[in-house]
Amino acid sequence: MLIGITGTPGTGKTSVTKLMEKDSSYQVIHLNELIKEEKLYCEVDTERDCVVADMDLVYNRVLELQEKSYPVTIVDSHLSHHIADIVIVLRTSPEKLKERLEKRKYSVEKVRENLEAEALDIILAEAVDWCEKVFEINTTGGTVDATFKDIKKIIKGLGNGETEEIEQAYKPGSVDWSDYFFD
Ligand code: ADP
Ligand code: MN
Repeated sequence: MLIGITGTPGTGKTSVTKLMEKDSSYQVIHLNELIKEEKLYCEVDTERDCVVADMDLVYNRVLELQEKSYPVTIVDSHLSHHIADIVIVLRTSPEKLKERLEKRKYSVEKVRENLEAEALDIILAEAVDWCEKVFEINTTGGTVDATFKDIKKIIKGLGNGETEEIEQAYKPGSVDWSDYFFD
């Protein structure tokens, strides 16, 4: 089973997948690192200081790396919903996300761009469009441990076919940041 952990930068993808890595049930692929290490991109965007990934190359490489001995392979990236059919979208309120992103060396412009993307549910909407199963977890007030527990619940539900309960509990669209625009 291939599961993508996606979401706007700063929503907690890498923190929780680093925790998952310590558990032998999960193979974890940190996709952004892989893309840089193996140069799986077609373009370098100097203006926005990022690379434009070649998603065909990326997808084929992930399939190659996927080890069938693990029941679950987790892909950590804001791009993972481009390649996985099952995805978990992490969400964080724009106010909280601002705090987290300002701690990084992001430019004012890059912080704003990401806050806007989160407020407009961009990644969630893409995931709902492209993926078979989408779950949403709010990481605004929680802890990395709590997020890991939520992810475990989702994986357990997927494994035993009891998807109704998790589909209800982690329904996409449960969070709503629209107040952000009216402050
Ligand atoms: P991403 O990989 O999505 O960009 P990170 O995992 O780097 O996000 O998390 C950014 C910061 O947010 C971390 O340094 C941590 O302090 C905080 N954080 C991450 N996950 C959670 C969580 N589940 N609950 C609360 N805070 C979190
Ligand atoms: Mn990350």
